[in-house]
Amino acid sequence: MENGKTNEIFGVLRELFGVEAKIELNYATELDLLVAIILSAQCTDKRVNLVTEKLFKKYRTVADYANADVKIFESEIHSCGFYRNKTSNIIGMAKAVQELGGKIPADMEALVKLPGVGRKTANVFLAEWHKLPAIAVDTHVARVSRRLGLTKSKNPEVIERDLKQIVDKKDWRRVNIYLVLFGRYYCKAIKPQCEVCKLKKHCLEFK
Ligand code: SF4
Repeated sequence: MENGKTNEIFGVLRELFGVEAKIELNYATELDLLVAIILSAQCTDKRVNLVTEKLFKKYRTVADYANADVKIFESEIHSCGFYRNKTSNIIGMAKAVQELGGKIPADMEALVKLPGVGRKTANVFLAEWHKLPAIAVDTHVARVSRRLGLTKSKNPEVIERDLKQIVDKKDWRRVNIYLVLFGRYYCKAIKPQCEVCKLKKHCLEFK
């Protein structure tokens, strides 16, 4: 793909969402962030923020999560969905971090060994907290990338590789934020806002 098209697409997204665009999950610490990302699987950021508003006041350290009562924790995160899995993953992640000396790892290889942390979660965490060049591919990123012809694949790892080939490395960490926001507010899965879309000239579906 020509660089011109990619630059134009990300230029429009930068204008829409600003250079300071952030993920929409609320957090103060790296532990908050990792917990919020795990909770956000199959759940809206809005719902996660409602739940974590109370959760982060009660659970402040890795030990707080590692020693959490499973039933109580399940009830506290119940509305995020998949609450049993998420409880087991968050408590398991905290125990694994304790075994590592209490510090959350800052590299992909070690992060994906933590319970509940897959490649997508690790990429969001590395890009957001550590400001490292990483591209997290979720359902929004995958859908929008295909519609805009940035990839032909449905496989998240292939999409990540395709995006890394066409986007400047310095911009990698913003790719997820921009494509998620664009997918959430404009290029929705059902009834995308094509009439007002500023990227329609690049869109394979619109054509
Ligand atoms: Fe998405 Fe419609 Fe824009 Fe295409 S024209 S990128 S489908 S919002």
